[in-house]
Amino acid sequence: MKLQNKTMLITYADSLGNNLNDLSEILDKYFEGAIGGVHVLPIFPSTGDRGFSPTRYDEIDPKFGTWKDFEKLGKKYYLMLDFMINHISKHSEYYKDFQKNGENSKYKDLFLDWNKFWPEGRPTKADIDQIYKRKDKAPYQEITFADGSKSKLWNTFGDEQIDLNVRTKATQEFIKNSVRTLAKHQASLIRLDAFAYAIKKLDTNDFFVEPEIWELLDQVKDDLKGTDAKILPEIHEHYTMPMKVAKHGYYIYDFVLPMVLLYSLYSGKSDRLASWLRKCPMKQFTTLDTHDGIGVVDAKDVLTDDELKYTTNELYKVGANVKRKYSSAEYHNLDIYQINTTYYSALGNDDKKYFLARLLQVFAPGIPQIYYVGLLAGKNDLKLLEETKEGRNINRHYYSKEEIAKEVNRPVVQSLIKLLKFRNEEAAFDLDGTINVETPSENEIVIQRSNKNQSHVAQATVNLKDLSYKVKVNGQEVRF
Ligand code: BGC
Repeated sequence: MKLQNKTMLITYADSLGNNLNDLSEILDKYFEGAIGGVHVLPIFPSTGDRGFSPTRYDEIDPKFGTWKDFEKLGKKYYLMLDFMINHISKHSEYYKDFQKNGENSKYKDLFLDWNKFWPEGRPTKADIDQIYKRKDKAPYQEITFADGSKSKLWNTFGDEQIDLNVRTKATQEFIKNSVRTLAKHQASLIRLDAFAYAIKKLDTNDFFVEPEIWELLDQVKDDLKGTDAKILPEIHEHYTMPMKVAKHGYYIYDFVLPMVLLYSLYSGKSDRLASWLRKCPMKQFTTLDTHDGIGVVDAKDVLTDDELKYTTNELYKVGANVKRKYSSAEYHNLDIYQINTTYYSALGNDDKKYFLARLLQVFAPGIPQIYYVGLLAGKNDLKLLEETKEGRNINRHYYSKEEIAKEVNRPVVQSLIKLLKFRNEEAAFDLDGTINVETPSENEIVIQRSNKNQSHVAQATVNLKDLSYKVKVNGQEVRF
């Protein structure tokens, strides 16, 4: 099914039940009408980072089901899959062949040789310092070839995730074949995971390198010509970067909203939220929660540094069981600029505040995404976190069918389901319509959405301090 202007669920294939068939059953049983699309987090055979170290794209890990199961889901929901454009597994056939055959491997050009990248006598300490890194050491890993010789390969993320050299013909072919495979199996959106790291260029910081990054995005867009699939480039950085991506005509993520909404609900103030909602584009997917942490840098300069600091401090104060150490190296945190928590717990497990956050998200420009833990208003999972010592697992609870049957009956979840159905059905949220935002007082915000010919007007008035709200459509009040 083609992309639609309807709420997208983000989930692993084994988070709501055990596999794709369970997921499909659960969506039909409890969330009919509330969910229009599904981002199924990586389902490929993978050797780490919960799917983000894929070995190939033409197969699904059998523990999740088959392509047929996936395509069945695609008859009812528009689907998104990830393509890890920056890296591939160290245990992929490609890497293994390269390790075995070295220069004679037909896959040698897929990888980026660190030593060959740098001119004689480099990298210097200044070169290494300049690289935009998510770890505190130079981003390479040693490779020992079958004949005993050694070299180094670019390695931005975890040990299993070896960077691809996206500027060679061989990799470009690989990219083309892979994204077309995903499109063939009914993915109408392809999330370009961590794409801003993909271009490495001498004397730059190797992040979001222009103009090459545009050539790369255009290339993937061209690769998908003749299919229904679109791309969604993923980037966590200063909001001006995703804004540029939007200006180039691509869908983007709104990773600013999570922090801005927390700020608004902690402080009771409406001005920052209002100015962000006036600024961000319609052609975007809004988020409050994902399988990663809550991005802090994403909201820089939308919130001042003091406001960002205030929000972070409040998060640790009023958030339920949100601790600084859960986002540190001790808990294998990959991204030091993200805070690990469920969104519900970030708001102190408070039903009222949480519902308001979702209501405001629904009225924001764009298509809302909701992470499966968020859909069930889930609390921080400290058990899974401690068992695995993996910070992001605080927000990756595994729900059994029995548990889901219980959780959906909570009033907050029922209200959410009603809200999402309303969002999916109401024409006022058309993406070619308009948005108007007012702040009648320090604590209040009024958001008005209408379709192009103004025949449908939806208005939300929220008081961020006393937590009251009113929603009207064409003057008629709607309750959730
Ligand atoms: C994904 C993370 C992943 C990383 C490396 C990110 O942008 O969202 O979950 O660990 O890319 O693939």
